[in-house]
Amino acid sequence: MKCDIAIVGAGPAGLTAALYGARAGLDVTVLEMGVPGGQIMNTDWIENYPGFPEGLTGVELMTNFLTQATNFEQVSLVMGHVTRIDREGTGFRITYGSEDTLLAKALIVATGANPRALGVAGEKELTGSGVSYCAVCDGAFFRDKEVAVVGGGDTALEDAVFLTKFARKVTMIHRRDAFRGAKILQERVRNNEKIELAMNRTVEEIHGNGKVESLTLQNVETLETDTLNVDGVFILVGTKPNTGWINEDLQLDMINGYLTANDEMQTSIPGLFAAGDVRKKMLRQVSTAVGDGAVAAVSAARYIEEN
Ligand code: NAP
Repeated sequence: MKCDIAIVGAGPAGLTAALYGARAGLDVTVLEMGVPGGQIMNTDWIENYPGFPEGLTGVELMTNFLTQATNFEQVSLVMGHVTRIDREGTGFRITYGSEDTLLAKALIVATGANPRALGVAGEKELTGSGVSYCAVCDGAFFRDKEVAVVGGGDTALEDAVFLTKFARKVTMIHRRDAFRGAKILQERVRNNEKIELAMNRTVEEIHGNGKVESLTLQNVETLETDTLNVDGVFILVGTKPNTGWINEDLQLDMINGYLTANDEMQTSIPGLFAAGDVRKKMLRQVSTAVGDGAVAAVSAARYIEEN
């Protein structure tokens, strides 16, 4: 198979790049290994994507992104896990699925990021049995139960409020005395009677026999420990870039696993661009992913023309 621009990842950045690539008259292949839409598919309600003053669900927003991109006949969406990238002249040979190959004149990596684990005892064993990384996916299993949320960023704050739709009580555990997330979300958490705060606390261990039963918390100041009985724990402590699949011999520059790229989304390899959460940058939002995707596609089109 051949195309002008190959895009790995069908989240906001990848689908925007596909739209801009198609509008530049180029053949675009988007490779996706899971459900198109990216992390935002796990977001209950989006109210900071401009143009939708009433807000909308993550699924609605991403369905629109997908429809808009695939309305172009030059855009093909191919399901498959990319396992290898090799240089082929000025372009790339992309290996995916069961050793299928795609030849592309330019490549955009938009593989986003995945939830980060805490790395404490009991976490791995009880994942799926009360330990969750996605409130929208699993919240409804905790109707009338008591749950904990770990983290202090936008995701933890937003999801703690979301979980009060189901849970009887939500305890937010944060390792500092101040939240990182947006002030407007902090207000909502503080004004919600179902949410209790456990600040300056870390989770030391998750206990349970087949399902989560309790957590050992440690006070970071006094080092005293106590037990919190819960039916579930949502670990929402940030994300890690989805770049582990990139073969090391490609020697693509990264910082802490995030791809480094310039203002034109050009990485350390000519013709290979990065867009969205996978890129080293200051703000990870749908609105910034969209900007990255547009710039990456225009840069890729320019690269193809010059080569
Ligand atoms: P984040 O902003 O990186 O926040 C991670 C939180 O987890 C921080 O409060 C951090 O504590 C805590 N944390 C990290 N490692 C920990 C550990 N080992 N133990 C305990 N706590 C730990 O991650 P995020 O909330 O997932 O957000 C990711 C990106 O998506 C951000 O750019 C965010 O703005 C964006 N986002 C935006 C929206 C929105 O606009 N509505 C919604 C969701 C996400 P410290 O604060 O002490 O470092």
